[in-house]
Amino acid sequence: MSKHRLKLAVRNAVARTLYATGLHALVQRLSRPRVLILAGHCVSADSNASLSKDTKVRAADLVRIVRFFGRRYDILTMQEAAQRLRAGTLARSAIVLTMDDGYVDNLTHLAPLLESLGVRATIYVETRALSERRLNWTHSLFLLLDHLGHAAFVARYCALANDAKGVAQLQAVAQQQGASTYHIKRVLKYEVQRLDRERVLEALMQAERLDGRALCDTLYMTWAQARELHTRGHEIGAHTESHAILSRCSADEQRQEIEGSRAAIQRELGAAPASFAYPFGREWDWNDSAARAVTTAGYTSSTTTHPGTNRPGCDMVRLKRVMVDEDVRLDLLVAEACGGFDLLRKLGFQPPA
Ligand SMILES: [Zn+2]
Repeated sequence: MSKHRLKLAVRNAVARTLYATGLHALVQRLSRPRVLILAGHCVSADSNASLSKDTKVRAADLVRIVRFFGRRYDILTMQEAAQRLRAGTLARSAIVLTMDDGYVDNLTHLAPLLESLGVRATIYVETRALSERRLNWTHSLFLLLDHLGHAAFVARYCALANDAKGVAQLQAVAQQQGASTYHIKRVLKYEVQRLDRERVLEALMQAERLDGRALCDTLYMTWAQARELHTRGHEIGAHTESHAILSRCSADEQRQEIEGSRAAIQRELGAAPASFAYPFGREWDWNDSAARAVTTAGYTSSTTTHPGTNRPGCDMVRLKRVMVDEDVRLDLLVAEACGGFDLLRKLGFQPPA
């Protein structure tokens, strides 16, 4: 058995035992209060059928999660949780439900479901999609890969790019790895020049007559819909303007993305957002200067996608979140929420995500 599979087996055994025996309640009572922030994108629905399953959570799973935690934990918005974490007034452990990007099902499916259970979500929106009805580059990439096929996409991209180093990386990956979606996206994310990538993808979308605007209208909510969510008590947070990888931006570009998305929400909702989430959220997707810009802009919290829970006194611009998608398992969430996995981490065992 490989080391990774062994770690997965240990993680699963601990989670199953805590959940099935009810020991999680004892661990929760013995642990100090903590906040588990769940991170998803959308609830599986017709509008997001084109998105991959790791961006969707099934309605039935979400109901099960909310019912389980609703009986034992407080379920808060990010702003409420941040306030308690900062002030040290977290009387008991809590859960926060966050959804990234601003997909339309958040209004049509997520909100009615949560409201019927008496809870509210925090929705982080990428404001350019709402304001200009423009897709971010990852959606354009998936559309083009689907339409052209991987090998043709790589050839066409390389022919148009003004970025010799990026082109060389893309060609190398295409040859070595058989040009899987994952590897192509990875090179476009971290290796090619950002603005050149925007230009080339835009040019390819036009050349192939692919309608990014129509897909944006299908996937993303409008400002009117965001206002409705806000009025109904859901929290609207910011997620940059263009879903930029902040670690790949200059300090000026970071400020524009972080302050610009805040200004857009303030303009459209009449209230400045308190909460921010780093796009992609892994520690190599943002950096210290982005974290400083978040604080300077006036946000009270910022979330990553590194797993774990958050305790009073923690760094409010480096909050941990656990992803929920169509493979979500309640026992793993419970083991995390009650402090069981934090106990393992204290003992030097890092449960794999
Ligand atoms: Zn996102």
